Amino acid sequence: RAKDPGQPEFHQAVHEVVESLADFLLDNPRYLHAQILERMVEPERIIQFRVPWIDDRGKIHINRGYRVEMNSAIGPYKGGLRFHPTVNQSILKFLAFEQVLKNSLTSLPMGGGKGGSDFDPKNKSDNEVMRFCQSFMTELSRHIGPYTDVPAGDIGVGGREIGFLFGQYKRLRNEFTGVLTGKGVEWGGSLIRPEATGYGAVYFAKEMMETRGESFKGKTVAVSGSGNVAQYATEKVIELGGKVVTLSDSSGSIYDPEGIDREKLDFVMELKNVHRGRIKEYADKYAIQYLEKQRPWSVKCDVALPCATENELNLEEAKMLLNNGCFVVAEGANMPSTEEAVHYFIEKQILYGPGKAANAGGVAVSGLEMTQNSMRISWSREEVDTKLHSIMRNIHEMCVKYGKENSEFTNYVKGANIAGFVKVANSMMAQGLV
Ligand code: NDP
Repeated sequence: RAKDPGQPEFHQAVHEVVESLADFLLDNPRYLHAQILERMVEPERIIQFRVPWIDDRGKIHINRGYRVEMNSAIGPYKGGLRFHPTVNQSILKFLAFEQVLKNSLTSLPMGGGKGGSDFDPKNKSDNEVMRFCQSFMTELSRHIGPYTDVPAGDIGVGGREIGFLFGQYKRLRNEFTGVLTGKGVEWGGSLIRPEATGYGAVYFAKEMMETRGESFKGKTVAVSGSGNVAQYATEKVIELGGKVVTLSDSSGSIYDPEGIDREKLDFVMELKNVHRGRIKEYADKYAIQYLEKQRPWSVKCDVALPCATENELNLEEAKMLLNNGCFVVAEGANMPSTEEAVHYFIEKQILYGPGKAANAGGVAVSGLEMTQNSMRISWSREEVDTKLHSIMRNIHEMCVKYGKENSEFTNYVKGANIAGFVKVANSMMAQGLV
């Protein structure tokens, strides 16, 4: 901590991993002797740069851009770009560190990285977003490439932004390569990539539920967020016969006890992806309850899928959820539960799937997009979805292998951390002190 003061999110992510690896490392001292953990918490490289751009009124703005290239032991750096005013080194280092273990869990050859900017795409015109993306990529393009570092989207970076970023990279390099994932299907993207994180989180929850003879059929589900991950998690829950009763954004949550059906979800997708509106408009349209400035964890539900952002579910809310009957939490977002909430879920032995396992479907399909780009082919929806499903099943199995504590309980945090760590650690040791 002395080395990185003022990086609470990074410390939180590392602390969780160290805590769950402790016994495993004592049993396997070769990793301690090689100081693998100490090496893993030090990014291989951090790039920070100025991003100047001009708004529609001709005013100049200066944002800060970053790319954290955390670990390339098992493949090129891979991880999203986040555009949000809260972006700083602590947040990107936590995300990059998680990404290393997550990418390892997918069983695909991808190292870990993360990047972004404190730029806020909210209330900006398409032209402003384009000018920002072009300026951001002008610098980033020197550091990335299909064999080096392959960014994707994250909060504030969706299909529109990936398009502008890709266009600028292509123009600067005069090459059409799979340098970014999350591209449009007409120009190198993979089918199912937009759906992958949300679908994957639900597949993971489904696997956990099956260990207790349960399924989504007839279950009430609380989802937070209303962006990419939340939308497709909701879609998959509906398909599996569950009822999603909440969504949220940074202004508040909606509670629809009747459930968000296909038609209402189409309204949310149009509202969020086309008009870039606020979730409150759902409450106005369907005359249901709007919980201003509140997160959705006070409602009665069986399953909770946090899909918005980090630290959006604290101990008090964790207690509220369990008191209201919730017995499954699968994280679509990265580190949405605070450390205390995670401890509580484990102590109460609910089915708790941490983000690095439950939301790995997004990067897994990004990996499949890279494969399709290299082979110059595109797989059908069914092919990609089947692969996604089997990757999530495999991640679940690995978590059980390393995290099963007794016949009744699997500690998925421990399982995910050990399973993710082993492959990266072995590769680092094989490659010498680099
Ligand atoms: P989007 O930008 O599409 O959506 C983010 C959603 O979360 C919005 O509803 C947003 O509300 C809300 N949100 C963001 N910040 C806050 C905040 N500080 N407090 C409350 N609500 C907030 O992002 P994604 O859906 O892509 O990402 C959501 C989460 O999933 C993130 O944790 C991301 O790291 C993780 N993730 C995403 C993957 C992907 O493939 N996209 C892959 C793996 C993980 P508002 O509009 O008000 O900001």
